[in-house]
Amino acid sequence: MTKRSFKRIMLKVGGESMLGKRQFGIDPQAAQNVAKNIKAVYAKNIQVAIVIGGGNIFRGIAGEKAGIDRATADYMGMLATVMNGLALQDAIEKMGVPTRLQSALDMPAVAESFIRRKSIRHMEKGRVVILTAGTGVPYVTTDTGASLHALELGCDVLMKATKVNGIFDKDPIIYPNAKRYKTMNFKDAIMLDEVQVMDTTALAMSSENDMPIMIFKLFEKDNLQKAAMGEDIGTYVSNDVKTVLADK
Ligand code: UDP
Repeated sequence: MTKRSFKRIMLKVGGESMLGKRQFGIDPQAAQNVAKNIKAVYAKNIQVAIVIGGGNIFRGIAGEKAGIDRATADYMGMLATVMNGLALQDAIEKMGVPTRLQSALDMPAVAESFIRRKSIRHMEKGRVVILTAGTGVPYVTTDTGASLHALELGCDVLMKATKVNGIFDKDPIIYPNAKRYKTMNFKDAIMLDEVQVMDTTALAMSSENDMPIMIFKLFEKDNLQKAAMGEDIGTYVSNDVKTVLADK
């Protein structure tokens, strides 16, 4: 099989990646860690768009459970992603990589409005684009935002950073002998109940529109770079592959 390599990637980073050792909020050191990985990929001349989540600050579902109207809580969640986006922008720019922050909810004092063609232009000009506020509408998550933006920005792949290095045949945190899937067909990913690595709306949208997803662990040395260069890490989910376990 020829090695996959990508020219333009959409990276979905969960809010959790901004936590570091904290239980809540943003640890600037954690933001630096994320930024370091992004810089390494950028240095390989790969165009990078990032969708950042907000779960380290606020999630709509949690707000609803606490008694807030769901749509209102979701807008609060979207605002949380803008805070993360600002922190990530700060961290990436401190490493000398130019960025632009865009938001699906208009807030001109802090971020550009999301404009598809402008986003693309930024990447062509060598800027990393950070997309916040998800889709700009409630009842979905930033996974769906990442899938949608990956499609409209013409990305080659949606790279979803998770806590574990791909999809496994059982929970690798509980079972040390769990086996990783090297590749997985979208049909299986959507069917498998235990695949809680990505929300189903995002999986369905990506599958219907042929946007492959690479699921991998961000905080492992050079993992993002390896995944972007097509090395065998994580799980590659696509309509064009069979579901196959990795050798090791
Ligand atoms: N959200 C939303 N619409 C979107 C994206 C996000 O309503 O298009 C809200 C939703 O409440 C979600 C919160 O923003 O829970 C934070 O995003 P998410 O949970 O996806 O963050 P992550 O889990 O990636 O940290």
